[in-house]
Amino acid sequence: MIASITTGKCPKCEKGEIFATTGNIFLVRIPKMHTHCSECGYAFEKEPGYFLGAMYVSYALTVIEMLTLFFLTFWFVPLWAFFVIIFGGLLLFSFFNYRVSRILWIRLFPY
Ligand SMILES: [Zn+2]
Repeated sequence: MIASITTGKCPKCEKGEIFATTGNIFLVRIPKMHTHCSECGYAFEKEPGYFLGAMYVSYALTVIEMLTLFFLTFWFVPLWAFFVIIFGGLLLFSFFNYRVSRILWIRLFPY
């Protein structure tokens, strides 16, 4: 199950891909999702607004990441470098969080 979360596989058949593209932060290309599983036809978005809840998962992931960056950097680098690291981390983790939060949301409420 953990492997299918990290690879983004369908929660039902574990074969089809959830995301069509991984996105690219440097080209500002948001990851694109398939509407249905290519293998079993499983609908990833059950209803309009289904992924609203994934925002809470994304928020939790962001808090964990930023607290980790805080404890790793705050006392060891100058203040300006700390802010660069925090805001850089926010940007770099944003697309990762987008994908992982949706995959986790599908896993948490699969049917
Ligand atoms: Zn499937």
